[in-house]
Amino acid sequence: MQPLKVFSVVPRLPEELEDLRELAYNLWFAWNSEIESLFSQIDLALWRQMEKNPVRFLNKLPQTKLAELARDDFYRQRLREAVQKTRAYLSRPSSPLFKDAARTHPALVYFSFEFGISSCLPIYSGGLGILAGDHLKSASDLNIPLVGMGLAYKEGYFRQYLTPDGWQQERYPDYDFEQMPLRRALTPEGAPAQVTLDVGGRPLVARIWQAEIGRVTLYLLDTNVAANPPEFRALTARLYGGDLEMRIQQEILLGIGGIKALEVLGLSPKVIHMNEGHSAFAGLERLRSFMQQGLSFEAAQEVAASSSVFTTHTPVPAGNDRFPMDMMRRYFEGYANEIGLAFKVFMALGRENPFNDNEDFCMTVLALKLSRFCNGVSKLHGHVSRDMWKRVWNQFPVEDVPIGALTNGVHAPTWVADDIGLLNDRYLGPNWREDPDCTRTWAQADVIPDAELWRTHERLRARLIDFARYRLRRQLEAQGARNKELQHADEVLNPEALTIGFARRFATYKRANLLLKEKDKLLRLIADKKKPIQFIFAGKAHPADNGGKQLIKDLIALCRTAECRFNMVFIEDYDMEVAQHMVSGCDVWLNNPRRPLEACGTSGMKAMLNGVLQFSTLDGWWDEAYKPDNSLGWAIGKGEEYSDPDYQDFVEIQTLYNVLEHEIIPEFYDRGHGGLPRAWIRRMKQALVEHGPVFNSHRMVSDYVRTAYVPAYENYLRLSENGFAAAGELAAWRMDMMTKWSSIEIRNVRTADTTRLFVSEKIVIEAEVHLNGLPPEHVLVESYFGPVQQDGSFASREVATMHPVTAVRDGWATYRGEATPPEAGRFGFTVRAVPSHPHLLDPHSLGLIHWAQPE
Ligand SMILES: *Cc1c(COP(=O)(O)O)cnc(C)c1O
Repeated sequence: MQPLKVFSVVPRLPEELEDLRELAYNLWFAWNSEIESLFSQIDLALWRQMEKNPVRFLNKLPQTKLAELARDDFYRQRLREAVQKTRAYLSRPSSPLFKDAARTHPALVYFSFEFGISSCLPIYSGGLGILAGDHLKSASDLNIPLVGMGLAYKEGYFRQYLTPDGWQQERYPDYDFEQMPLRRALTPEGAPAQVTLDVGGRPLVARIWQAEIGRVTLYLLDTNVAANPPEFRALTARLYGGDLEMRIQQEILLGIGGIKALEVLGLSPKVIHMNEGHSAFAGLERLRSFMQQGLSFEAAQEVAASSSVFTTHTPVPAGNDRFPMDMMRRYFEGYANEIGLAFKVFMALGRENPFNDNEDFCMTVLALKLSRFCNGVSKLHGHVSRDMWKRVWNQFPVEDVPIGALTNGVHAPTWVADDIGLLNDRYLGPNWREDPDCTRTWAQADVIPDAELWRTHERLRARLIDFARYRLRRQLEAQGARNKELQHADEVLNPEALTIGFARRFATYKRANLLLKEKDKLLRLIADKKKPIQFIFAGKAHPADNGGKQLIKDLIALCRTAECRFNMVFIEDYDMEVAQHMVSGCDVWLNNPRRPLEACGTSGMKAMLNGVLQFSTLDGWWDEAYKPDNSLGWAIGKGEEYSDPDYQDFVEIQTLYNVLEHEIIPEFYDRGHGGLPRAWIRRMKQALVEHGPVFNSHRMVSDYVRTAYVPAYENYLRLSENGFAAAGELAAWRMDMMTKWSSIEIRNVRTADTTRLFVSEKIVIEAEVHLNGLPPEHVLVESYFGPVQQDGSFASREVATMHPVTAVRDGWATYRGEATPPEAGRFGFTVRAVPSHPHLLDPHSLGLIHWAQPE
């Protein structure tokens, strides 16, 4: 028997406490500890039990407790202040960079498969989601008129627990959105918003939830509604849970459903940011909606791409979603028809080689083709991505592939522990929260007294150890351990010992087992009672990854041995809360991915902001942050890449133990007056001074604003003016280029005598270009100049514009430019031509180019 109607009953908050509900429904509390403490201090045990979810917490508080609180003047005063502060924060106007836009009228939408905002909203699995969460928080702090778009996973990502012999098991709680800081989103008319879309010929209905992340609204699509058949209801059950069929449906929901949802909500952001290829169908759906407004396919593509930003995260080809042709046909044949494309031409949008009928449809390729602003997430990853996707731009040398690099950052107010935050408040000023990308602010870290910084750090280490013991005890209880074993949990780890943290997904390339490869060395270091070291581990393996689970099992086995059981602990169920404890309480943050497979890595940045020193292979962000004098932390190797992984492991584990034994451990225990490790503390401060202003998400979001969001926004406005007049013009111009371009020619490339030149002496380069009737301003002629390597190729290059210096005669014009060799050596140059138009952002996007040919 099922009830006819279901409704929720919530406790009646006394009028004096009504504001608590307002605070509970904005995740601003996730980075404002005064607000969090308004909840936690009412009943800390219940707060923890409710997993820091304020809505569930308020619903669970007994009425008597509430009544008591309502009579507490001091509490009411604090509540009043917190609400005032929140309202003041929320009412500040949006950044003027996006004219006409506002919080309620956003300029930008950020799509992501996962968002990590707080452990009480478990719709994330790891780094990608945390990055998206930090992005929204910084966008909020920086007043950027942006909204987020994602999916509301009813079972979230799995929760990890271990069997007594260390095998990972997965648990999927059933979350109740009514008991979370989420509300049903409404249409402008005030009705509950929902979208309907076509998925493989069948209607799919999704309702829309919203979460408030400070000033930013995050919309989440939820297909668990009665109107859907069971397989559609399950679409938003689990993050990364299904097979390929479910994946394509989820991606259709996020991309196409997301764009439709914005329409239903009455929002019309001009710029979309696709965080990873999962949401690339959003680009397609925008294109279709522009066509519905009367644009040709070409014009619509121009508008969509000119106002889209795409961030790629996956440096392994297999990690990028690819769908086979027959699957694509089932979902997109009608769609292709609707936008007037033959199915084969449609498929080419997702193919590196558009003429290869055997290629699967790749979401990353689609996103690259539908965005003019593409980037990897660290300098090294930008480089790797250009190489990985160079076939999409096969006429261009790899260094000209238009994928930039914009290094990730982390949200300082979220990841800096309260104790360090108070130190920062005192010595850096409150500016570090509002303006963490300011160099001047962090320069002050230098003046924090050594003793004060060290005492704070030691307190955080002690707190981490308490937390680890508490979690270990809970783990053991759940496994049905005996009393004696439970007592062991209270004795593990030593609050004074050098503590090394290793926490991340157990993906193979992260090499969680590297430490185990020289067990003797490990045991010898652990056995040293005078200079004790200890390790804390955490991390989940993907449920289908038995290799990853075996790594966890091996690690647990080692943690259980008599030699290691006091010095090595594995904390179950890695999530944001575990991360917060670990990145603030360890001394060293260990990371040993196989270069160059870590696109960026952000947990190390969180550690850095808390004065925890890095010890990592030169991969991801550490490749650009590390200083060879070790003043900011240590490296494993010098950034070599190996073709034999076993040999690489062998070399790198030797280096790891060498540096640990001969540099890190001695320095940690080199205690001067007052027991302070002065050299260590110097490194902690120096890392804050140099890395603090750089590797934070305010800097990251500001960079996106400057280099992508504002230009994309302005492009949109320009192209859409007067009924998309400029877009139409650009599309027509493009067609013209496509037909005329093949007859462009470059000849007679020459310069003055270049047999001998001196450093810094200018050389003049000239070339004649056949324009085939095109106006000279539509053909951009460039010199391509740089040092030449042994094999005759360019080691690097500088591109400079050449200008026409004669009128067009018989179809030919002469162009002239200059170049200056900055140093002695062998240099070379060549000349190329690409199309140019005032509305065209990126001359590469047409795929047209001519290089001067040898004569
Ligand atoms: C920061 C974070 C990550 C990502 O860390 P990496 O260094 O990229 O591995 C993953 N999971 C959680 C819970 C995090 O807080």
